[in-house]
Amino acid sequence: MSGQAPGETQLAIIGGGPGGYAAAFHAAELGMKVTLISDDPQPGGVCLHRGCIPSKALLHVARLINEAREARQWGLAFQDPKVDLAALRSWKDGVVKRLADGLDELCTRRKVQFIRARAQFVDSRTLRLDKNGEPSGGHPEHLHYERAILATGSVPALPGIFKVDDPRVMDSTSALELTAVPERLLVIGGGYIGLEMGTVYAALGSAVTVVELTEGLLPGADRDLVRVLRARLDKTFQAVQLSTRIESLQPGKDGIAVTMRGQGEASEQVFDRVLVAVGRWPNSTGVGLEQTRVESDARGFVKVDRQQKTNDPSILAIGDVVGEPMLAHKASREAKVAVEVAAGKPTEFDNAAIPAVVFTDPEVAWCGLTETQAKAEDRPIEVARFPWAASGRAATLGRFDGLTKLVFDPQTQRLLGMGVVGSGAGELIAEGVVAIEMAAVARDIADSIHPHPTLSETVAESAEAFFGQATHLFRPKR
Ligand code: FAD
Repeated sequence: MSGQAPGETQLAIIGGGPGGYAAAFHAAELGMKVTLISDDPQPGGVCLHRGCIPSKALLHVARLINEAREARQWGLAFQDPKVDLAALRSWKDGVVKRLADGLDELCTRRKVQFIRARAQFVDSRTLRLDKNGEPSGGHPEHLHYERAILATGSVPALPGIFKVDDPRVMDSTSALELTAVPERLLVIGGGYIGLEMGTVYAALGSAVTVVELTEGLLPGADRDLVRVLRARLDKTFQAVQLSTRIESLQPGKDGIAVTMRGQGEASEQVFDRVLVAVGRWPNSTGVGLEQTRVESDARGFVKVDRQQKTNDPSILAIGDVVGEPMLAHKASREAKVAVEVAAGKPTEFDNAAIPAVVFTDPEVAWCGLTETQAKAEDRPIEVARFPWAASGRAATLGRFDGLTKLVFDPQTQRLLGMGVVGSGAGELIAEGVVAIEMAAVARDIADSIHPHPTLSETVAESAEAFFGQATHLFRPKR
């Protein structure tokens, strides 16, 4: 507890996710009196309790299963894995609990007051804390603050057609609970959440079908990266159906009958379970924003400027609730900006590169300017690629299915963007983020010594390819 007068705080933060808790800890470091309010029992938000962390714990298991199967070709044979679902669930829950306890501990150490409640604005300087009928735990019903940071995040999107009252129709939250491994799983949505969860269930034994409305998986990502992933997914998944619209879900005794329409006739298939992963909606309704001057756009995202300021001078907003990309690290960076602005510092969100990682097998990652975006904006770029077929490290891993690409400004040779598909792409992308933020040019990257044999060499080799000098076995086409 912070020693603040009951019912009053200097900075109220609504939402305990990677936006909210990062804001709370940074504000406490700057000496502010902070109250962090979240309706989950512990801080962590969606990311820790029903998003990034449980999904990555399960993806780690999926990877182990897949590698054990593949090891056969290297002369190492394991028996087929026996999955103890209860033990797997409890391991995943343990990972989450350990990290949530760590956040609780940090709240105590940094004197951040954590209140478990649902918060609603009564006016621009007051919140009502709703305990959902639980005993108040000594916390006030109303909290007055000097500044508030709204960090209420997002929830799985569930358009009307998918609203089926049957536990076999899941969203990402219920899919992560892993109550059963269905024989036939339909994943609706070929975005990163659908593909990651599909990867988990496929490794555990489900025959997974992915249906995507648009003409490609991972809309927005560069097609050359997605092609490499797709080649693998065609072996992992039972089917991938693009340009296909779901017309109805009908629960029955033998499963969920799904009517879908591709290019031609509508067809019906039956699945044991269906995962709806068609995006996320901002958590901006039911928060009492109408009692303040905060404005939202047509999709419900709260409007902010580059300093995370809303239209209400007392309220800043960060994270998923303010818009894309809906990613934990973007929320945490915005948190820092918002807190510094609340502390009167002249900060703004000026990052040039926000990384995105899809933790499929292989992983896909990108940051900064993509080729797709450059084409859409008609911006001149030069792209240098290095396929992993020429990487020594990829050979030792038996994983040639990879590609590293760098997007340069042709005039200045400055790095504008990076994309990677391949094993461990999520770790490699950080180099691109730093290089972009430091305004590195192609020569900086090519001449920086990268350790051999590592996949990081593919970054330097891509930069060499920019000069037409890839030094290893293979000279990629430009
Ligand atoms: P959230 O994490 O959504 O937290 C908001 C919190 O506020 C929640 O606890 C919510 O219950 C609470 N809340 C809402 N309204 C109120 C209220 N009125 N009063 C009190 N509390 C309230 N991102 C990545 O960067 N990497 C990943 O690998 C990744 N994987 C994901 C996997 C899945 C399955 C999902 C669903 C998401 C994933 N994400 C990932 C996205 C990531 O979880 C979000 O971008 C991130 O959690 C957003 O953080 P936030 O602080 O904005 O809000």
